Amino acid sequence: MSRNDWEVVIGLEVHAQLTTASKIFSGASTAFGAEPNRQACAVDLALPGVLPVLNRGAVERAIRFGLAIGATVAPRSVFARKNYFYPDLPKGYQISQFELPVVQGGTITIRVGEGEKSYEKRVNLTRAHLEEDAGKSLHEDFHGMSGIDLNRAGTPLLEIVSEPDMRSSAEAVAYARALHALVRWIEICDGNMQEGSFRCDANVSVRRPGAPLGTRREIKNLNSFRFLQQAIDYEVQWQIDTLEDGGTIRQATVLFDPDTGETRVMRTKEDAHDYRYFPDPDLLPLEIPAEWLERVAGEMPELPAAMRQRFIDEFALSDYDAATLTASREMAAYFQSTVDAAGMALAKPCANWVMGDLAARLNKAGLEIADAPVGPQQLARLVTRIADNTLSNNIGKKVFEALWNGDGGPSADAVDTIIETQGLKQVTDSGAIESIIDEVIAANQKSVEEFRSGKEKAFNAIVGQVMKASRGKANPAQVNEILRRKLGG
Ligand code: ADP
Ligand code: MG
Repeated sequence: MSRNDWEVVIGLEVHAQLTTASKIFSGASTAFGAEPNRQACAVDLALPGVLPVLNRGAVERAIRFGLAIGATVAPRSVFARKNYFYPDLPKGYQISQFELPVVQGGTITIRVGEGEKSYEKRVNLTRAHLEEDAGKSLHEDFHGMSGIDLNRAGTPLLEIVSEPDMRSSAEAVAYARALHALVRWIEICDGNMQEGSFRCDANVSVRRPGAPLGTRREIKNLNSFRFLQQAIDYEVQWQIDTLEDGGTIRQATVLFDPDTGETRVMRTKEDAHDYRYFPDPDLLPLEIPAEWLERVAGEMPELPAAMRQRFIDEFALSDYDAATLTASREMAAYFQSTVDAAGMALAKPCANWVMGDLAARLNKAGLEIADAPVGPQQLARLVTRIADNTLSNNIGKKVFEALWNGDGGPSADAVDTIIETQGLKQVTDSGAIESIIDEVIAANQKSVEEFRSGKEKAFNAIVGQVMKASRGKANPAQVNEILRRKLGG
């Protein structure tokens, strides 16, 4: 067997911080960036004499997630204590769910790769459970010592566990991205990876095809998609090299060091029984009656997969376009409003503008689509003016830039104002185009002769001159046609 005969197996555990204003079992604030230890209350620290009270909003978000992935939302689930000691968990246990999690099963469909070679795959989820976050060790800038900040203690998390279904780092990243987009779409997590609102642990093993699962190592706390990819790639190579050299893999928890691009062992792996899980005696089982489920189901937004299919069916968009436009809810909403204003017949040019010029301009300015200075109504009017031949596509780009700079005001009428005041209306009067062409032919005899002697390139040069002479406003199709006729080409 060669080094190529290894199959990679990956399962991800993702911690998504839920967007509640207060903590999962207390009224303390979850706002990011406060002074250390200002937002941890007696409940978060499990001081004697206080009891946890479950935050309804956190449960509601877990329900939304369960519904979004077609999972079973357990009518009854149980909170358990996971016992361990670590400086950032002075109370000695974390409240989590173990045997009976609130969300069970479900799937997420991912698209891996781009273009021709891309493929779809369904990833199965094992479970998602509610739990509280721990505090955080501060090793920098703390009077030369390490300190503990307990503000994060008790922050609500949804831990989302996948089956070991991914077979490459590309699949793992596609899954993580799809999950990231989904939790933001259903507004249960802000997805801010720098602030730690969405953290991935990657479980990685390798095996000979057909063999039972190999021993896994778990890479902890990856907070960017790039690190996720790099860490898995390094880890896979390390495991293959180790096995090829006759070594064995020991189950372990490892950390990825972005500076060296390597993973290193943090601790050899503990098993569930090491945590002495037991039901938390301070909390009742979580009961979710059918009425609650139904209400939340009624409030769910159209989900990305459904919307993507609708864009294909209703607007005849390609799979690629539909997937791109539903990559985020903001982008999908922007596109939908644009089509609503421009009319369904213009869905394809609307899609092209949103994915093309608008996306590029946002990227250049470092802006999110929700903050785009050109609104959907304006873009719709612009697309309409190109479709009705008032503007050429090229001049349309000029109008777009003017809109971006705020010319003509915020309404859709700004488009017409800009066309009017800047004299950008396309020239479609063939008499006018003809006289420009005559002038250009007279002034460019050399190109004309070159074209007549068979140089097709010279034709384009003359078209260019005509467009220039008309300041870009001549209708390009007409210019081509009239010029061909005149030159007898
Ligand atoms: P824990 O890490 O809490 O012990 P599990 O045993 O349930 O939990 O596994 C956690 C994650 O590891 C899951 O995402 C699962 O799919 C993945 N996993 C389990 N076995 C393997 C394996 N042999 N290779 C890769 N991933 C695995
Ligand atoms: Mg784990």
